[in-house]
Amino acid sequence: MKFADLHLHTYFSDGTFSPEEVVGYGQKAGLAALALTDHDSVEGCTRAAAACAAAGIEFITGVELTAEHDDIEVHLLGYFMDAQNEKLIVEIAKFQAVRQNRIREMVAHLNELNVPLEAESVFVLANCKSPGRPHVARALVKAGLCKTSDEAFERFLKKNRPAWVPKAKMSALQGVGLIHQAGGLAVMAHPGLNRTDEIIPALVDAGLDGIECFHTKHSTKTAERYLEIADKFNLLVTGGSDCHGFSKGKPLIGGVKLPYEHVEKLKSRVENRGSRAGIPDSTLRNPH
Ligand code: AMP
Ligand code: FE
Ligand code: FE
Ligand code: ZN
Repeated sequence: MKFADLHLHTYFSDGTFSPEEVVGYGQKAGLAALALTDHDSVEGCTRAAAACAAAGIEFITGVELTAEHDDIEVHLLGYFMDAQNEKLIVEIAKFQAVRQNRIREMVAHLNELNVPLEAESVFVLANCKSPGRPHVARALVKAGLCKTSDEAFERFLKKNRPAWVPKAKMSALQGVGLIHQAGGLAVMAHPGLNRTDEIIPALVDAGLDGIECFHTKHSTKTAERYLEIADKFNLLVTGGSDCHGFSKGKPLIGGVKLPYEHVEKLKSRVENRGSRAGIPDSTLRNPH
């Protein structure tokens, strides 16, 4: 049997592995295919593609966007986009700026609580354009202000805790459109973790292509429930570990194994859209 892991983070967002390390661990896990899905970044994809080519692993360009619909947060995975797509890069850059400003706001809240963290130390530690709360947590640990990242989230960073700052998000419908115009497929990430069931029909109407049924934090029952939903709405099925690095001493990559037949189905959906990839709608409507 061939397997894939289609949800992986690197140090280009809040993961701790380089693209090459991800691919190395993917090879050890025996993966036939993998996708990088960094938060608001496609920067790691060129290096991961090269490392995959050398390792004989199929690489899929990916991204994870934080979006919302009807005030419900939803993470959108994009696959097979053109990583050079101009609109994609411009929009992603806006959300990277949002992330950087949010770090400053979270640090200001910490300072008000007499926790003497400096924003600069978070940026130095993050060393990427897409910093997030895990970097603040790690900086707190590094500065000796918390014992563990978990403690940092519990005390300060979790939703509605004193240093939590809501994040400006893109509209989910726009997110689906953004991924499509870059030639990609749009997939709802870990629906079992967000309360996103009620917005599935609206996203399907907007062209959602798939749903992440298999995820580290989905029980077998949850996975089965979303397989049924995928069937009902004619959505493609994806899955991945959501590896951010080591978890309990082991790389999480390959902890969720998506049967390769689902990758075949994703590819035929992209191929059937084929020549439309990256071509503006106006060109399609007016071919002469
Ligand atoms: P952000 O995008 O800055 O809001 O951070 C979200 C990221 O933080 C997620 O992708 C996870 O990697 C991580 N995260 C979220 N909640 C927790 C938590 N309670 N404990 C540890 N990490 C978390
Ligand atoms: Fe993350
Ligand atoms: Fe997510
Ligand atoms: Zn993720």
